[in-house]
Amino acid sequence: MAVAEADLKTVDIIYRYEARDTAARPLPMDSDAALRRLNGGNSNFAALLDHVKHESGIQQIILVDPGDLGLDPSVAGAPKQRPFAAVLGCSDARVPIELIFNEGPNDLFVVRVAGNGLGTEVLGSLKYAVDHLGGTLKLIVVLGHSGCGALTTAVDVFLNPGDYLAIAAQHSIRNILDRALIVVQASATRLLSAFGDGVTRNPGYRQALIEASIVTNAALSAYSIQQEFISHDLQGLQAVYGVYVLETREVWAPRSGSIKGGGLASPPRDLAGFAAFSDAVVQSERIASYLNSGASD
Ligand SMILES: [Zn+2]
Repeated sequence: MAVAEADLKTVDIIYRYEARDTAARPLPMDSDAALRRLNGGNSNFAALLDHVKHESGIQQIILVDPGDLGLDPSVAGAPKQRPFAAVLGCSDARVPIELIFNEGPNDLFVVRVAGNGLGTEVLGSLKYAVDHLGGTLKLIVVLGHSGCGALTTAVDVFLNPGDYLAIAAQHSIRNILDRALIVVQASATRLLSAFGDGVTRNPGYRQALIEASIVTNAALSAYSIQQEFISHDLQGLQAVYGVYVLETREVWAPRSGSIKGGGLASPPRDLAGFAAFSDAVVQSERIASYLNSGASD
């Protein structure tokens, strides 16, 4: 069907390089500033695409230092690597990390692997960032996303254990799955204790378990990174977690005292913290929406 020209809406996301004496966007000085920048960037990105429903000709300009692509004539050789955050995300093609945070080249040290789990190569890459980019690196982010295929498969195997046979001989897939199953088991236990045995018969249960597992997986990974890499002599560095919600383009991180849970958040610090986190997950608006919508079907 032809669309009238007046109805065409455009969004331009532009990387702008300008010759300038000062930095186009100064680096965050500490982990709190880095966290604010990423949360603000994601809010702007999500809002930008909301506006397209009502406005036309929308632009988002991301300023970039020419030096970050080797265009600074006063600097010889390759630009120096200077990311302010490392991000462990999923390989899912719908979650382009720099784009969803409004960032550009040389801003983020990105590691992407299906299910954003902590395998050996992932840990090695993050360790490299911590050891070699400490001058600018302020934040390590673990970012899951809604509807993640890796966690969805783990939930389906958990609900139908017979399915495991089909993948038992596929070592590479099992590596990802076995790690995820521990998180699914913990999330299922929490949903049962919060809503009772009947929750497994709720038509929205599978979806609620998938989404609870995705965010628990991200929070647990951020906790592990905090414990393993961020020792007392690296006080300036902080690990955080979140889930990119494909439907809204916003980052979600349920935690105590926030039913909505917008933006990235710090992981629990201990066992009591994890209990409070798990409560916040099962009581969150998002998880409740799956159980409520399923119940009314
Ligand atoms: Zn995924």
